[in-house]
Amino acid sequence: MFELRVKGRFSAAHMLRGYRGKCARLHGHNWEVEVAVEAEGLSEAGMVIDFGELKGMLGEVLDELDHKLLNDIPPFDRLNPTSENIAKWIFDRMKEKLSGFEGVRVSSVTVRESEGVAASYRE
Ligand SMILES: [Zn+2]
Repeated sequence: MFELRVKGRFSAAHMLRGYRGKCARLHGHNWEVEVAVEAEGLSEAGMVIDFGELKGMLGEVLDELDHKLLNDIPPFDRLNPTSENIAKWIFDRMKEKLSGFEGVRVSSVTVRESEGVAASYRE
């Protein structure tokens, strides 16, 4: 099995509902996102997928969140915009974007909202 990883970033604000703590108040983070994709075989060019193409897809997905108030963007208008839920949302968006690439699957998405903490989602 081969696995590729690409990283991206976005900056956004959020506030957590039903949570007693500082994160209940409006604040922002510079999120770091790492996406891993996997494939059992390689293309004729010897790749899982072109790194540039994969980074481009992640960039498009993160643009949807960048410099926004996450609580305004569905599904985060109902679902708490925690790192865990953001990781799953990015996973689902990347899965859609990779649907045309046979044999290539999203293996995990990791979201870091601050130094030393990370949340990952995988199916
Ligand atoms: Zn926060």
